Amino acid sequence: QAKARARGSVAYFAPAMQEAMERRREIEEDLRQAVAKDELAIHYQPIVDSRRGVIVALEALLRWRHPRRGLVSPGVFIPIAEDTGLIVEIGEWVLRRACIDAMAWPAHVRVAVNLAPLQFQQPDLVARLGAVLRETGLPPTRLELEITESAFISHSADIEAKLTGLAALGIRLALDDFGTGYSSLSYLNRFPVNKVKIDQAFSRQANESPKTQAIIGAISTLAGDLGLDLVAEGVETHDQLAFMASKNIFLIQGYLYSKPKPIEELAPLLENWRDAPRLSAA
Ligand code: C2E
Ligand code: MG
Ligand code: MG
Ligand code: MG
Repeated sequence: QAKARARGSVAYFAPAMQEAMERRREIEEDLRQAVAKDELAIHYQPIVDSRRGVIVALEALLRWRHPRRGLVSPGVFIPIAEDTGLIVEIGEWVLRRACIDAMAWPAHVRVAVNLAPLQFQQPDLVARLGAVLRETGLPPTRLELEITESAFISHSADIEAKLTGLAALGIRLALDDFGTGYSSLSYLNRFPVNKVKIDQAFSRQANESPKTQAIIGAISTLAGDLGLDLVAEGVETHDQLAFMASKNIFLIQGYLYSKPKPIEELAPLLENWRDAPRLSAA
């Protein structure tokens, strides 16, 4: 009986897989034109200093308004953009757009831009970034690049040179999704990053799992000893906020403060943000 069911599920599986592949091909084709058709947009999510209730940075998060599919999530199209190499062109569009937007913000608000591994591998990365900063006029110290450790798993031997080049320009570097990879600690040891972002998976369990609590505490101690900024991503509840505070983590990004939104909705909050849930409210 088990055999029959297994065979049945194989027969059922094949068309579903074919459908998924066709859907993927369609998205890939549409994505090639998305930039030209002006279908891409950026939403920004605040990173808040919970002690002061002040927005210290906005992370640029890509959105795709597809004419038929509606809003397509980056979780769906970024992997396709990476596989096809389209991410390089798209990523540069995001970078330029984000720098232009940030020019209109108060000077104390940084802009954080995600950099795909493929972008990081470009031999002329530092020159390209320098060019965008010159063109847009954004001071390099206001730009923060978020990379995941997969950016470091390239064959290029010039990672150190690139990171030194970025640092020389004054661009800040954040290690995204920290704690989910294979060797985050060794990367901290080898490369000069300014900031670490604790992955949402940890924040989500911050008030349930003693193990997760121990890990978050250890990351906080480590970041403190290394002199790194530390952000907790995916903070959704006051309890999670209070736990982070108890571990000296005060840079918070998450739905508790704000979902990613169009800049028009956030710009008025940048100078003085009174809506922020203060720690005292926890
Ligand atoms: P990420 O860089 O780790 O960005 C944080 C993600 O967590 C965002 O998802 C954000 O909406 C989500 N998030 C933040 N706080 C909360 C929360 O409290 N609860 C929940 N459930 N989610 C929260 P989003 O916008 O869907 O982006 C997903 C990923 O797509 C990003 O993860 C990043 O890896 C990638 N991505 C987005 N934009 C770009 C881009 O311009 N370039 C590249 N290379 N990747 C991008
Ligand atoms: Mg990020
Ligand atoms: Mg992340
Ligand atoms: Mg991520």
